Amino acid sequence: MILVVATRNPGKLAELRALLAAPGLELRSADAFPDIPDVVEDGATFRENAAKKARAFARGTGHWALADDSGLEVDALGGAPGVWSARYAGEPSDPAANNRKLLAALAGRTDRAARFRCVIALADPGGGVRTVEGCCEGRIAEAPAGRGGFGYDPLFIPAGHALTFAQMPPEQKHAISHRGRALVAARQAWASLLAR
Ligand code: IMP
Repeated sequence: MILVVATRNPGKLAELRALLAAPGLELRSADAFPDIPDVVEDGATFRENAAKKARAFARGTGHWALADDSGLEVDALGGAPGVWSARYAGEPSDPAANNRKLLAALAGRTDRAARFRCVIALADPGGGVRTVEGCCEGRIAEAPAGRGGFGYDPLFIPAGHALTFAQMPPEQKHAISHRGRALVAARQAWASLLAR
């Protein structure tokens, strides 16, 4: 079976390739289908955005397609930045500006509970979609720490740990991250579908 991974991000593709590998499953990158336009991520939820991306690639290519959407939810900010995580400080996406804005929004606050959420959607060529989700609870640090990872990693301390995601080796982050957990759920939920 051919599975199109609806991302043009090589890092994500490599991660998905490693975690989804199954006999008979051929993963293709979105880059192999340049004619399919980028989907506007205007959904109100991670689920809507992931489903929209997966459905667009499945319909456009005639193959099964997989897409993810993720972001950070901060309780004291009513769940913001949420689906706006990439563009929290405006466009174009600027991770350093996003982190500065988040720290400013939480200045003086002691309630710093937050979570990363990731939804993975799998669409069939007819456009039918199913989704799984992974979540990683934690809190927002008082100041950035670490140089690894990307996005909000220097500010996110997962529950039960003292280090930020950016201070951890990638394998340690992936073992507990929202994306790692969503991928494990995807493999469990869809093993028989993907082995066809
Ligand atoms: P997307 O799923 O690639 O659209 O990610 C949306 C945004 O959420 C990213 O640009 C980051 O700001 C944030 N984000 C998602 N996952 C992570 C992560 O693992 N670490 C840090 N930031 C993340």
